[in-house]
Amino acid sequence: MAFSFQLQKKCLHTQARVGTWSTPHGLVETPRFMPVGTLATVKGLTPAQLETTGAQMILANTYHLHLQPGETIIEAAGGLHEFMGWNGPILTDSGGFQVFSLSELRKIREIGVTFRSPRDGRIIELTPERSIHIQNALGADVIMAFDECPPGNADYDTVAAATDRTYRWLERCIKAHQRPHDQALFGIVQGGIYPKLRSDAVSALIPLDLPGYAIGGVSVGEEPALVRDIVKLTTPLLPVSKPRYLMGVGTYKEMVMAIASGIDLFDCVIPTRFGRHGTALVAGERWNLKNAQFREDFTPLDPECPCYTCQTFSRAYLNHLVRSQEMLGYILLSLHNVTELVRFTQRIREAILKDRFTQEFGHWL
Ligand SMILES: [Zn+2]
Repeated sequence: MAFSFQLQKKCLHTQARVGTWSTPHGLVETPRFMPVGTLATVKGLTPAQLETTGAQMILANTYHLHLQPGETIIEAAGGLHEFMGWNGPILTDSGGFQVFSLSELRKIREIGVTFRSPRDGRIIELTPERSIHIQNALGADVIMAFDECPPGNADYDTVAAATDRTYRWLERCIKAHQRPHDQALFGIVQGGIYPKLRSDAVSALIPLDLPGYAIGGVSVGEEPALVRDIVKLTTPLLPVSKPRYLMGVGTYKEMVMAIASGIDLFDCVIPTRFGRHGTALVAGERWNLKNAQFREDFTPLDPECPCYTCQTFSRAYLNHLVRSQEMLGYILLSLHNVTELVRFTQRIREAILKDRFTQEFGHWL
């Protein structure tokens, strides 16, 4: 069987859990942070460097890859793994989130969404069938259902209509999916900040017996406390035997809280975006490496971190690179930041296995 999820351990005090998920391109040990490679590259890092971060599954974005270079070219190259030189597991999103949040002049209808390409102005139609067709061509291990993502401040009726439509679109995605043997199609729980809509959405999804489930429509402009409540309420309703993915979340606190509710997988652009802005994630904090305090600081960025950046260079050198706008500075910080967040989830995994999750990470809860 191409996919199997084994639950290894459950926390005694929270819903936190440890699992091993096998996919066609290798294991994913959960909980795990997944770096984002929007355009088939985790910005600034070679696949060999990426491997040293401890990353297992990475993301790529259907919307961006459809616009450039187009799925036909990636399929002709032998699929996404071959094209980008990453032999580990890959997940592609459906493009829905980007169409709803980034595109101008979009029109939503039952059939799908039309929008104007920001690259060349042409009108593009993305439907559930088209999204799955593109994702089948890209060839990631995990593909996502095409869903409607209303903004975080949308009212109940708008979110209810979007949640119903997401379900009808999911049924069409399942029908359109041509590669269920080697691509796992995940369903997405929508429902905004409304507990009833979230629990209804889960109830509708469960009979479909999909290989995995995601919680979507969080971190789209609503209060962080509301996100936590929704994750806390929704996650335990999902089937225990399937991987659970919280989309677009990857800060320390949010990950610990979501893991405590039973989430297994996360993704976020933060580590490489921060890296490109000269910011390092160190021990739960954000450091601006441009700051004068690092000018003559010859200690490693994080003495505890096993990454190449921390093992080789000083804060003073990183300060110099960032101040000089040298590309190596941004690469080294991205390498450290990705390592930091992957390692953070690895440490949580170890703690759950030793029954020490609440002792070691309880201060984040
Ligand atoms: Zn490091």
